[in-house]
Amino acid sequence: METARRAPQGSAGPEALLGELEARVQDVVKASSWWERHGVDCAILGLSLLSLPPGFLCLRSGNVLVFILGIAILGVCHYTLTVKGSHLATHGALTESKRWSRIWAHFFVEVCTAFPTEDAKYGHVKMHHGYTNVLGLGDSSTWKLPYLNRYVYMFLAPLLIPVITPLVAVERLRKAKLGVALRTLGLISLGLYSHYWLLLNVSGFQSSGSALACMLSTRSLLAHPYLHINIFQHIGLPMFSWDKKPRRIHMMSLGVLNLPRLPVLDWAFGHSIVSCHVEHHLFPNLSDHMCLKVKPVVSRFLQEKQLPYNEDTYLARFQLFLSHYEEFMVQTPPITELVGLP
Ligand SMILES: [Zn+2]
Repeated sequence: METARRAPQGSAGPEALLGELEARVQDVVKASSWWERHGVDCAILGLSLLSLPPGFLCLRSGNVLVFILGIAILGVCHYTLTVKGSHLATHGALTESKRWSRIWAHFFVEVCTAFPTEDAKYGHVKMHHGYTNVLGLGDSSTWKLPYLNRYVYMFLAPLLIPVITPLVAVERLRKAKLGVALRTLGLISLGLYSHYWLLLNVSGFQSSGSALACMLSTRSLLAHPYLHINIFQHIGLPMFSWDKKPRRIHMMSLGVLNLPRLPVLDWAFGHSIVSCHVEHHLFPNLSDHMCLKVKPVVSRFLQEKQLPYNEDTYLARFQLFLSHYEEFMVQTPPITELVGLP
């Protein structure tokens, strides 16, 4: 099934439009300090690492409220390190040093998230960013589990993310070179085992079962918004075919959606995943703080040129996905044909 859609407006050609927007964004970047370009986000990640000892110590407490506080601290820190940290590290947005970018990617993606760095870079940076909403390439179909019904998918499936992630990692590593596979497996095991060891030796858990249950609860604390946001921001928007994919500026303005700012998610996932996803897809090397800083420039530019700038609320997307689950998450999406593009 194909649907025709009138091409976005804009008198200049797409390359000229993107060039003009890039120049405006570059002006903002050049006028920004190191603290704004990288420091704010590095500080958030540093604070998350520093919050781990008090988090583990809270779990020693017999007081239920202190114990729950410990779970909340460790859960939010886990998502900050694994989602924000891994995402910025795979894009090389944490530092301008290539060497440190590689080191941070191994730390955040492998040690913290239990996933191979190379697969994260290939799947996210190369395919998802390079071919956003192009069917069969960057169409977010890895998030689809069509054999699950809408309620199981939206409410229960997220809880399995911490268990599924290392299993997918092992499956991916079977195809990797032996040296890379061994190094990655070593770093993933280090992350998982040190988490387990700290729960037994610092938090004072008496049995392996209770320590594993605690690992699961902190590692799935924000799994629901994580899964939901990953599908809300692309699925249901125009999808393109490989041979007729639009130019970059049209691809991103049509195929990406921003959610409003949400304090806990801004902190744990980062602006580039929540309220500045359009800006992030256009300028993937910018840090979260810089995406937020250039947001008024990007939104004004796209509106000025009469290009789409998709925004919706979490609740509206949630209701839309529940009511259109079959259409969005089970059926193959229709290809949007853009008529009259330069
Ligand atoms: Zn990204």
